[in-house]
Amino acid sequence: MRNWVRWPAWLCLSLMLWMAAAESVHNHPTQTEAAACSICVAAHSASPTISSSHATPILATVGVLLEEDVVAKARLNFSDAGIRGPPVR
Ligand SMILES: [Zn+2]
Repeated sequence: MRNWVRWPAWLCLSLMLWMAAAESVHNHPTQTEAAACSICVAAHSASPTISSSHATPILATVGVLLEEDVVAKARLNFSDAGIRGPPVR
């Protein structure tokens, strides 16, 4: 790996690790400041609960598959191709 790629990669990795460490160990002197901190609010918020209304599934036929034969209608028109047709006796 080239040096001009390696050094920014290490810089970004070290910044990410530094920020993770700083977020995990930061504290606030008062409770009101902690309430305004987005990191603390996210860390201390309750995990979302799954609300279940026990809805029953609706099982209904929405359509019937109707198969239909498809026949390709091939037609070669010699005048479209610009060539002369077969000789007619
Ligand atoms: Zn905080």
